[in-house]
Amino acid sequence: MPAIRSQILEVVRDAYPETFEGLGSSKPLGESVFSGRTPHPNEVLNLFVQQKLTSALPMAYYMATRRGLNSLMDRHLPRNATLPPDILQSAMGGLLQLRELELNETHDLIFEPNGSRPCSTSNCPSRAPTGPAALTAYHKVFDHVVCSSQLGTKVLQVPEFYEDRDGELQCIGPGICSGCVNRWESGHAELRKKAWGALPGVFGLNS
Ligand SMILES: [Zn+2]
Repeated sequence: MPAIRSQILEVVRDAYPETFEGLGSSKPLGESVFSGRTPHPNEVLNLFVQQKLTSALPMAYYMATRRGLNSLMDRHLPRNATLPPDILQSAMGGLLQLRELELNETHDLIFEPNGSRPCSTSNCPSRAPTGPAALTAYHKVFDHVVCSSQLGTKVLQVPEFYEDRDGELQCIGPGICSGCVNRWESGHAELRKKAWGALPGVFGLNS
């Protein structure tokens, strides 16, 4: 039995990492790691709370909240996936804080590059950061990075700033140069780290 238990714990540790470095983009995270029927993230969260799997709780809370309030409060779920009031309250509070962090920081990252001069690449709309071409491009990128998460959050996900247009990779924001995209990518990497560090606090797990 101890062998099975330690194997299970290893799987859990891999899918619900304790450290930021564990969040590799190539490996499956969260409930998709379980074989057979994929459990609802609320069900996993309930189970981890019951089993006192403290180290996996920040990630389990995140996996449940990133789908948004409707998923957290879904009344049509089986009992084991229905969140008791105290867990629901922590999850909702955390979601709102993460959402605020995601919106504010992504906005600053894209619209108000801190201390950076206008881009010097010819043809990049960022040469005139407050001009209409730049604002149109920035809005597209901003929406792409945060708004498709609707009422949830995807702040820990690595955003894709490029799309494939006729076999050529181009920025989601029309005309934006690779230098600007690089700056956004590294800025967002910092944001992911910051959000990760905030998880225990926003979900009330620090006490
Ligand atoms: Zn540029």
